[in-house]
This record gives sequence, structure tokens and C-alpha cells, in this order.
Amino acid sequence: MLAWNDPVTYIHGLTSQQRRVLKNLEVETVGDLLSIMPRRYDDYSNLVKIAYVPMGEPVTLKVKIKALKKQPTFRRRISIIKGLLEDETGTISVTWFNQPWMLEHLQPGDEIYVSGEARRHPKYGTGFVSPLWEPANDETLAAGHIAPVYPLTGQVTQKTLRKIMKIAVQDLDDIEDDLPADIVKEYSLPDPLTAVNLIHKPDSLESAEKGRRRFVFEEILFYQLALRLARNRADAGGAPDIKFNQSFAQKFVAGLPFELTPDQKRGAWACFQDMEKSRPMRRLLQGDVGSGKTVVAAFCAAMVYRAGYSVALMAPTDILAKQHAATLERFYQQHNISLLLLTSSARYLMEGGETIKLTPLKAKERLAKGRVVAVGTHALLEREQCPADLALAMVDEQHRFGVAQREALTVLERPDKMVPHLLSMTATPIPRSLALTLLGDLDVSIIKTKPAGRRPVVTRLLVGDTGRNMAYQAIKEAVTRGEQAFIVCPLIDPSDKLGAKSVEEEVFRLKNGPLKDIRLLALHGKMSPADKDRSMDDFKNKQADVLVATTVVEVGVDIPEATIMVIESAERFGLAQLHQLRGRIGRSDKPSTCYLVASNEEASLSRLRILEKTNDGFAVAEEDLKIRGSGNVLGFEQSGRGVFKIARPEDVGIMTQARDAAVKLLAEDPLLAGHEKLKERAEVMRRTAHAE
Ligand code: ADP
Ligand code: MG
Repeated sequence: MLAWNDPVTYIHGLTSQQRRVLKNLEVETVGDLLSIMPRRYDDYSNLVKIAYVPMGEPVTLKVKIKALKKQPTFRRRISIIKGLLEDETGTISVTWFNQPWMLEHLQPGDEIYVSGEARRHPKYGTGFVSPLWEPANDETLAAGHIAPVYPLTGQVTQKTLRKIMKIAVQDLDDIEDDLPADIVKEYSLPDPLTAVNLIHKPDSLESAEKGRRRFVFEEILFYQLALRLARNRADAGGAPDIKFNQSFAQKFVAGLPFELTPDQKRGAWACFQDMEKSRPMRRLLQGDVGSGKTVVAAFCAAMVYRAGYSVALMAPTDILAKQHAATLERFYQQHNISLLLLTSSARYLMEGGETIKLTPLKAKERLAKGRVVAVGTHALLEREQCPADLALAMVDEQHRFGVAQREALTVLERPDKMVPHLLSMTATPIPRSLALTLLGDLDVSIIKTKPAGRRPVVTRLLVGDTGRNMAYQAIKEAVTRGEQAFIVCPLIDPSDKLGAKSVEEEVFRLKNGPLKDIRLLALHGKMSPADKDRSMDDFKNKQADVLVATTVVEVGVDIPEATIMVIESAERFGLAQLHQLRGRIGRSDKPSTCYLVASNEEASLSRLRILEKTNDGFAVAEEDLKIRGSGNVLGFEQSGRGVFKIARPEDVGIMTQARDAAVKLLAEDPLLAGHEKLKERAEVMRRTAHAE
């Protein structure tokens, strides 16, 4: 007998190998283990024959191994096993990477199930790449013909995890239901034990979905309760009252190097109105890359500073924080506003016309003194760092939506219990129904039109070396005109997470060939913050013509002289991400071109053509959602690092139900005083969302 909250070590009858696997999973309780949701299911009741295998769709086949051998490779860390599979309708090839031990388990003549997606690969031909497999006589299949496919980490194999799950589910006691009975009834949710069984041992795909639905409902309900309790608490705390200062607003606008667009004015105006209320502002400023969100933030910050308080502006990276500080310094020149830059590598105070470098201690002291506009990375938001007179917190999270969700759960309380106003900025268009669920009843301002005089970025899709050479030619021509270019490399080797190898190899290749007379600079995640800064500064100061970088340039980097971007292996990126990337150019009145260089793969080419056709970020994001089904675009990260572990963007229907349930519960019991269990679970949700 096994209880939901028992430690996983209580699971009986595991082999020592299975125990080791369990340890690797880093789960504490049986409940944690059983909350690992299948990514999808293999349907062994619906087997496909080789002759009818569709490209790019998950399928399961029963086949015989015709040939299997290790293929020699020159790359040390990679091992390749090639095979040929057959059934009575034909043969198909298969490639397994980095599973050398397979040769000990399988040999020609064996019957196996494989499940995965067949693809056309430029190098390996048409076939399966690293599909799952099991011997055709395996007992796990006897249990039912629908087998869960779990997300895997490290050394854990699908087969072992399936076995462990099966044992755990078998021994599981009844689970106490934390949801009120009337809610369970109203939304026809299965009880928790039934749901767990449906998820891990389904007899059909429909019943598996029914089980998952219960967990999605719970997840969103607790998230919504946490969100709404936070909001109620913030409202009760009250916010500093920022009086709109009309003469200052006029002076500020007059001193800007450009005229604000109508949408920028509307955005700022909405914030000013919000901040005059005693209820803390919670506004999202949504606008495509390059639409000019920063100046709106700068304007709001100036107004709050003017009223006598501090402001914090948080950016996702050091580079971006530094750039925001430089931008604000420019906007604030004639206004005598104290500006403090706080990143892990640099701390500067710009005050009274001087710029001083500060020690960490001095920076902390200056922050504590208050009445300052502080710019930094998200660490700035940590409570002990916030000045006591913080009246406005602004978060430039770009498309990193998970961060915004976490912040939605935050109440930044000052020592006097007041709560600062909050302005988030994002370039991700979020459908309204999802926004309501993810962010609660948050106010949204949209910047739709881009600043006048902008030339839209022309995007061209190129294929292979011929295409690449055209892009290099364009770079050379741009450089002779005194313009600059970005070259973005994808991460090729999985061990090269920070892109150091990709970027350095690319720089080496370009220097010794196609771009040998051009001044190149590198930028990747493995460089120290100081080196990154130097690269960016040198590039900005035109000490180099081309910046070769990983997607670190994706976020907010503003180099107006850059008019060309070349994105290598463009097919490896999502559309929304490519759109973000190309937003780095087209920032001046000169024409800009983004070259997407793809290897020759038909499917992805038609997808990339969308970017040739439209420059509208909303349209691109919509296509991206359609193609990828869901997206980490919205903070539903498959890896489990997002706020939501179970819900997916397409669960909008049930999310809305859970939201309604939360609203109703709180209307009847605003502090959940009569629902201890719900309160507890909401609190757990809040805490785990922040711990990550
Ligand atoms: P994003 O919305 O992507 O954060 P930014 O705030 O970085 O965009 O603005 C992009 C560029 O447009 C900056 O160089 C900025 O100075 C410029 N800009 C912003 N607003 C205007 C405007 N109203 N007129 C002209 N240029 C503008
Ligand atoms: Mg920006």
C-alpha cells in the first residue's frame, strides 16, 4: 500500500537499477513521481506499416531488424548506430545516436516496436532518428495498448520509467481530494485516484485526456487562487499616489530626440492615470520588437522620480540592463534624474552630471538612500535590494513570459506595507483568453504602430552555400557603405549550451575565408560579463563590422547602424524567435535585410516563407502557435521549467473553467478561511513558481 505523500523509497518491488533511476529523477514523494505527465502516448493498438509511414508524425510500427551496425564517426562524443527495418510492405532506415549499448540488446532478426517520427534528413536519408523501441514481446505492452511516453532526463530510459510508474500506480491507496465536492461535481472531474490511473494506464487516448484534464484544472485553479490572493493583498496594501505633473510631462516630451507616436502617448497616459490611484497599477505594455516601449518606461520612471520616489527597471540580461541605462541617461540629460546601474559586473551612479563607478557596498547604500531610478537585471527585484521608497517596478521581460507569470504572483511589499506600481513590457502577443488566465485581470496597453520613418526589414530565405555566399556579398557591400551586420549561429553541439564553440568555429571559418577582410567580433554566453560588454561596446562604437553571436542578440540589443542580419540554420529556430532576432535590424532609416540561411529541408522552408511574407509580429506568433501546437513562447516550457507543469496553451477551455471556479470561490470566501486545503495548495504554487 502506497500513499500519495509517501517517500518514493516506499515503492516496493523495484530492482536496484530501477531504484537508481528513481534517484536520478529527483522526485521526493510518490505524488511527485506520479505527477510526471506523459508527453504523449504510443498507440500500439494502431500500428502502421512501413509503406504507409507519414513524414513527421508520431507513429508506432512492429518491425523486424534486417541489419544493424555501428557507424564510424570522427566526432569523439557521438556514436551512431544505423539499421534497416522491415515488414511485409517494405524497409525503412533508422539511426540511433549515442546509444552504443543497443548493440548488446538487439540483433538482426529480432522483432521490435519502434515509435517516433520519420523524417527526411539531408545527411541520413529518409527514416527514423532515435525512435523509442521495445522488444515486441515486452510485458509492458500486455497491460494495454496505449503506452505513455514520459519526458526523460539524464540516464533514465522510457522503458524503465514506464515500469516504475506501473508499479507505483498498482500499489497506490486512495488519494484525498483537495477540491471541494461541489466543484468536482460541477466540472465533472474524475477523483484523483481515477485520474492517476487514467493518465498512467489508459485504455484509450480519450480516457488519458480525461485524467490529464483533472490535473490541468487543479493546476490552473491553484495558480488563479494564488494570483487573486496576491492581488487582493496588494490592493489592501495600497500604492503610492503619483500625481500627474503636466508641466513636467510637456518638458519631458519636448526634450526627446523624436516625437512620441500616438500609441506611445496613449500607453504612457494610461500608466499615469493608473498611478494616480491608490490601488497598485498592474499593466502590461505589449508591442512588437522595435515599437518603442523603452521610452514609455523612461517617461513613467521620470514622472515617478519627479514625484519624489524610486523606480526599478529590470531586464533579463546584463547587456540589456546596461543598454537601458545608457538609453535612459540620454533621455534624462536635461532633467537631473539620478540613475543607478546595477548588474553583476558593473555598478554605476549617474548623478548631477557625473558618472561614478561604485563598489557593491556603495551601490547598496545608494539604493537604500532612495529617490533613484535603478536599472538592473531581475535580481534587483529581490526584496532586500529594493529601496524603501520604491513606487514603480518595471519589468522588461520581452518574450520571456514565464518570468511575467512569476511576477504576477509577486507582491513587492515595502517596509511601510505599501505596494509599488507594476509595469511589464513584452513583445509577445498573447491571445486575450490566455492572458486572463496567465496574468489575471491585468490591464493591457498595446503599441501597434512603429515609429515613423522606419523601413520594414526585408527578409529573404536562402538555401545552402550558394545562398550563404549571396548573404556574404550583401554584408561586404553594407560594410563599404559604413553599415554593420549580425551573424547568428545556432547551437550545434548539445554539449555547447552557451554557444562558445559554435561562435568561435564560425568566426574562425569566416576569418579564413568568406569574410577575411572584414572586422569580426564574437559574442556568446560563455564569455565573462566584462568581455561581453567589451564586445558590445566595440561593436556599438564601430570598432568592428560584423558581430558573430548566439541568440543572446535576440533580446533588445539596439545597434541602429546594423542593417544586415544573417541567421545560420534558420530552420532550427521557431518563427517567433526568428522574428525577435530580425527585430535587431531595421532600426534606422536605412533599408535592412535579414537573410535566413537554411539547409535544404522542404518542410521547414515553407514555414520560413511566412517570415518573407509578413513583418507583423502578431501574425508570426499566431502561425508559430499553429505550427508548433504550443509554445514555450508563452512560458509553458516542455522541459518543466515553466510555471505550469501540466497545462498547455491549447487547454484554454479548461483553464477558463478553472478560472471561473477560482473567481466564484473567492467571491464566497475572499481569504479562503473556510478552505484551508485550497489555501495551502495556492501557497505551494506561489512558492514553487518563485523558487525557479
Ligand atoms: P522595443 O519596443 O523593442 O523595446 P525600443 O524601445 O528599443 O523598442 O525602441 C527601438 C528604437 O526606436 C530605439 O532606437 C528608439 O530610440 C527608437 N524610437 C522609439 N520611439 C521612437 C519614436 N517615437 N520615433 C522615432 N524613434 C523612436
Ligand atoms: Mg525593448
